Amino acid sequence: LVSARGVRKQFGPLQVLKGVDLDVHPGEVVVILGPSGSGKSTFLRCVNHLERIDAGSITVDGELVGYEQRGGRIHRLPERRIARTRRQIGMVFQHFNLFPHLTVLGNVIEAPVGVLREPKAEVVERARALLDKVGLADKADSYPRQLSGGQQQRVAIARALAMRPKLMLFDEPTSALDPELVGEVLGTMRDLAADGLTMVVVTHEISFAREVADRVVFMDGGTIVESGTPAEVLDRPANPRTRAFLARFL
Ligand code: ATP
Ligand code: MG
Repeated sequence: LVSARGVRKQFGPLQVLKGVDLDVHPGEVVVILGPSGSGKSTFLRCVNHLERIDAGSITVDGELVGYEQRGGRIHRLPERRIARTRRQIGMVFQHFNLFPHLTVLGNVIEAPVGVLREPKAEVVERARALLDKVGLADKADSYPRQLSGGQQQRVAIARALAMRPKLMLFDEPTSALDPELVGEVLGTMRDLAADGLTMVVVTHEISFAREVADRVVFMDGGTIVESGTPAEVLDRPANPRTRAFLARFL
């Protein structure tokens, strides 16, 4: 579903991604681990084209992200076309960024109704089902400020799912939460994985990686230095940098 080849990205003089190769197959859950500054967020942002890559290629469902090939040459796509691709990719961040003036239901239906122009009644029905799925059926009429951080993050997940994305990207979805709220969000993500949703998850939650990931990749210094099953990467890391990183979590 996702195929990244030799992805490079630099900010000014700083080379942040130095040739990232990653494949994500339909239904797969890939967890990305790595130290701060290794380029994890930048890579996710390149996948849904919040950042434009400098070299290499990323395809999502066979389509180049941000570029198209015409007459044997690569052309940049205009923003409007990029926005269309981006809608097929859900993204959940550390900070949930819900609309404070909209109810929970209002937040979940906003993009399908406002952007995709889908019939409201249909979207409301789907939104209620999604809220039920994330365990918040009874909070549809609440406002974000009336919810805990964990509940707000589950609303953010439901909001992303309301666009029926082919792919979900999670960037440290639990790292802004109080420890006692982390489990409920990871539980929701685990359910989505069990439903067969394709997910790329940046997290430091090693036990989530162990239990839910099909594949774990370790990023350091702008490249993927190790990739394999959770058992391979977490229990028998071959690379000394992976070993040093994981030692912090023991
Ligand atoms: P963390 O675990 O702290 O979230 P990360 O692996 O997600 O780290 P990135 O956020 O991808 O790391 O950042 C990689 C490097 O790129 C960092 O040195 C960061 O300062 C730099 N960087 C990221 N975005 C920008 C930007 N828009 N402009 C300039 N530098 C940036
Ligand atoms: Mg980050």
